[in-house]
Amino acid sequence: KGERLRLPPWLKTEIPIGKNYNKLKNTLRDLNLHTVCEEARCPNIGECWGGGEYATSTATIMLMGDTCTRGCRFCSIKTARKPPPLDAEEPYNTAKAIAAWGLDYVVLTSVDRDDIPDGGAEHFAKTVSYIKERNPKILVECLTPDFRGDLAAVEKIALSGLDVYAHNVETVRDLQRHVRDPRANFDQSLSVLRHVKKVKSGVLTKTSLMLGLGETDAQIHAALKDFRESGVDCLTLGQYMQPTKRNLKVEEYVTPEKFAYWEKVGQEMGFVYTASGPLVRTSYRAGNPTHIF
Ligand code: SF4
Ligand code: SF4
Repeated sequence: KGERLRLPPWLKTEIPIGKNYNKLKNTLRDLNLHTVCEEARCPNIGECWGGGEYATSTATIMLMGDTCTRGCRFCSIKTARKPPPLDAEEPYNTAKAIAAWGLDYVVLTSVDRDDIPDGGAEHFAKTVSYIKERNPKILVECLTPDFRGDLAAVEKIALSGLDVYAHNVETVRDLQRHVRDPRANFDQSLSVLRHVKKVKSGVLTKTSLMLGLGETDAQIHAALKDFRESGVDCLTLGQYMQPTKRNLKVEEYVTPEKFAYWEKVGQEMGFVYTASGPLVRTSYRAGNPTHIF
């Protein structure tokens, strides 16, 4: 404890850059889109945007600004009690830009906006429906906040025409208070995912855990069991990386073998799709499991 762990060799490898990467990168500049891929300097960008040989290209777009009303201890996003108001034109402009950009699969995500009555659910839903109007072939995933458990807000998005509804539980039950903002919790997040399946069973649901925060195997097993019982279809597990000195320290670098073990466990437990690896992020090559569509 106290000492920073050294980065293991498997996190230092270069990731190949797919052929669409440069095309997407060059067209992005004029479009005024904020991608998490670039802003978080995500190491998977070459692969996600590039799409590789057979795969689809994916990017993650941030809606509703860059300032969050919450302060999770693993996250380096700016925080304010009252961030600037929403840009009413954003849903339309984002849809237009995405259609022009030439993606196959887009992930829409946002900061938490506890200052807005519906948490921005309407804003998300509009963006999805405008994208689908312009190009019904683009697969759309929303990675949403918990809306403080407001199921009417969740429902707006679940019925917006999206293909995948993702909401991250982030960590095991016992570490929620240690890792997430106190307004978030395990059961509230599960209720979001359950509600999506209840109102629209054809939408795939997805969640994600970061490993390396001090969780035990038994706690991970228990979380996966809870996910299955809540009807969660897709699971991603990745290594937690400390974004700045002010954030939580990494307790453990989980080995690639251990991630492979969890992938097998996920498959055996009946998730439609499990992605588990040190660099896996919620949206990592999100468009790749095309066999599930
Ligand atoms: Fe970061 Fe999301 Fe937590 Fe806000 S709610 S601090 S964006 S992880
Ligand atoms: Fe972007 Fe997500 Fe892929 Fe990273 S993993 S490059 S954030 S789509």
